[in-house]
Order: sequence, then C-alpha cells, then structure tokens
Amino acid sequence: MPDASAQPTTDADRAMPGPLAGHTTLRTGGPAERIVAAGSADELVQAVRAAAEPVLILAGGSNVVIGDAGFPGTVVLVRSRGVRVIAEDASSVTVRVDAGEPWDDLVAATVANGWSGLECLSGIPGSTGATPIQNVGAYGQEVAETITGVEVYDRVEGTRQVIPAADCGFAYRGSIFKYVDRWVVLSVDFRLTRSPLSGPVRYAELARALNVEVGDQVPLADARAAVLRLRAGKGMVLDAKDPDTRSVGSFFTNPVLDRATYEQLLERTADLGDPPAWPGADGLVKVSAAWLIDKAGFAKGHPGEGGVAISSKHTLALTNRSGTAHTDDLLTLARTIRDQVHARFGVTLHPEPVLINCTL
Ligand SMILES: Cc1cc2nc3c(=O)[nH]c(=O)nc-3n(C[C@H](O)[C@H](O)[C@H](O)COP(=O)(O)OP(=O)(O)OC[C@H]3O[C@@H](n4cnc5c(N)ncnc54)[C@H](O)[C@@H]3O)c2cc1C
Repeated sequence: MPDASAQPTTDADRAMPGPLAGHTTLRTGGPAERIVAAGSADELVQAVRAAAEPVLILAGGSNVVIGDAGFPGTVVLVRSRGVRVIAEDASSVTVRVDAGEPWDDLVAATVANGWSGLECLSGIPGSTGATPIQNVGAYGQEVAETITGVEVYDRVEGTRQVIPAADCGFAYRGSIFKYVDRWVVLSVDFRLTRSPLSGPVRYAELARALNVEVGDQVPLADARAAVLRLRAGKGMVLDAKDPDTRSVGSFFTNPVLDRATYEQLLERTADLGDPPAWPGADGLVKVSAAWLIDKAGFAKGHPGEGGVAISSKHTLALTNRSGTAHTDDLLTLARTIRDQVHARFGVTLHPEPVLINCTL
C-alpha cells in the first residue's frame, strides 16, 4: 500500500502532500494525521481496514469543505482506475467503473463510443465513485437514471457487496451513502443506451443553447459541447486560471418545500415576483436557491472577509477567491447568506457539500 505522504501517486498528491487544501477544489483545509493513496479496490478495502478511526475517504475533493484544523485521522485517497463492459446487447451496454476513475473522462468516453445516458453530466469534477453519494445531477440528468448497482465495502459488517440501484435511496442530491461513514464505494455499474443521440433534452436552458425544443434529442457530442459551454460560462468547469472555479460548485441545495411553505414563500416574494420553481412529487416544490440568495441582497461577486466571495459568474458558488482564504472565512460568508435568506423569506438553505471537521 503506497503512503501518499511518502510516495505520491498523482501530480496533485505530489504537489501538496501536507495540508488537505491541496486535495480539495476549494483549496482550503488543514492537515491530516496520515494520507494513504489506494490504487485499486482491494487497496481501498485494505487501507480502510488497516486504519484506526477516524477515516476519511477522499477522491476529487470537489464536494467537501474541510475545517482549518484538518482531519484528526487517516485520509484514504481513492485512486483506483478502470472501465470495463460487463454486459451488452443490441440496445445497451453496462459498464463497471472503478471508484477513482475521473468522472468527466468517463463521460467523454461514453459520448465518443455512442453510449447515451451521461452526456448532460459533462464537466462535473471529481470521481466516478462519488457520483452515487449525492446522486450527481445537472441539466436534467442524474446518475440515478443509469446506475444499476454500486459495489461497496461495508465498514460495519466488514464485507463487500453490490447494492442494487433500487436500494440506494437515490433522491435529489442524496442517497443512503451521503453523510454516512458506513460505505466505501469500490465501483459503479451504469447501463447506457447504444444511441448516437442524447436522451430527450429536459432542461429549458440547454434546449435554448442547442436551438431545439425541450423533449428533442441531439447528437451526443452536441449535447456534451453545449453543456460544457454553459457550465464554463458559470465557472462550473474547473479551470486553474479562473478563481471562480475554486469552489465546491453549488454551495447550497435548492430548498424543497411542501405546498404550505411554498405558499407562504409566495406571499413573502409578492413584491419581487415568483421565484423560479420546479414542482415535484407529493406536492413538493423545489425552489431556486440562487434566486433567494440574490433577492436577499447577495449579488454575484459579493465579497466576504478573508478573501472569499460569491462567484462572479454564479450566485450559488462560494469561492476561495484569493486562493489563500480559510474554511472559517468561507463558512462565515455561508452563514451570513443562510441567515439573511431565512430572515427575508423564512426558508432555510442547506449546504450541498459534506462538511468535515467543521460546521455551518
Ligand atoms: C466547479 C464544480 C462544479 C460542480 N458541479 C456539480 C453538478 O453540476 N452537479 C453535482 O451533483 N455536483 C457538482 N459538483 C460537486 C462535485 O463535483 C460532485 O459531488 C462530485 O461527485 C464529487 O466527487 P469527488 O470525487 O470530488 O468527491 P469528494 O469531494 O472527494 O467526496 C465527496 C463525499 O463523497 C465521499 N466519497 C468520495 N468517494 C467515495 C468513495 N469511493 N466511497 C465512499 N465515499 C466517497 C467523501 O467522503 C465525501 O463525503 C461540482 C463541484 C465543483 C467544484
């Protein structure tokens, strides 16, 4: 088992062996007691078994906020790679993807192969193994639609098993895996459709960008290119030269309100117009967090203390603008936003990333 602090396995590991900031897209977070890189599923299991608690599984570091005090235990870096076809027929292909496989490399390969199902998830940073954790989604697609099973190591039982998609509890930015230390994702199975075309475009903004109607299908490569363009315009594709991308993407999830709470919100926004909203099942309504934040007085680019700021391209992204900010500064800005949105609209925003050794 390589020890990342002694024998790094990637450029990022090599560049910043000390503070965990070097392993996160936010570039904040203090040191860990020990960092171990696992290059295969077996090594992942061994590393987790061998380490004394607490153990943090860390892959791309694009959905974590790590406290300035760091992590008082072992961090296991997920660096396993591999994609293989495990089943296929005339209309579909099922691929098994190792947890450490970079997500966007996988999406690019599926688009190139004429396998439809992931194209709208182009440009999302991080690893494939992390995608089931919060049911990664964007532009009308979620991984829950194509995942058939998730191979995990169960830290409680000490066993390996495949959890079928139906038992993963997939929901909007959630699953049984999020906020729970029990499961280590080893690989993920995706069933994709053999088709040169995307699924029906569901997201109005994407349809506009493609010059088609919602419900139309477009060549896979066109869908990918349009999504990458839209995302880059919002600072949602990692770019070392663009400080707006030094973030975790969206910091807050869109609040999902029951009908009564939604009606109360409409009363409080009467002078502003209706917030963008998406009706869901059981009368629930998902409301745009970005709109609430903006109308509560936080424009794009709004600065906090210590070098943090709201992205100049997207109200939902909180950034380490200076590159030298601390997690505490970022959380102070997040708290200010959350509290002001609550005071103005009576709606509580919740963070989308996982907070490690820090709280909001
Ligand atoms: C610019 C930007 C844009 C983004 N856009 C989107 C978007 O459009 N949609 C979206 O859903 N997300 C988005 N994200 C969030 C993030 O990219 C995804 O959640 C991604 O899947 C996280 O992958 P990761 O490998 O970086 O996970 P990490 O940040 O390393 O980990 C996230 C959580 O998953 C756990 N974890 C990671 N790997 C494993 C594993 N193998 N087994 C068990 N637990 C594990 C970690 O312990 C942690 O709790 C964005 C982030 C950024 C920075």
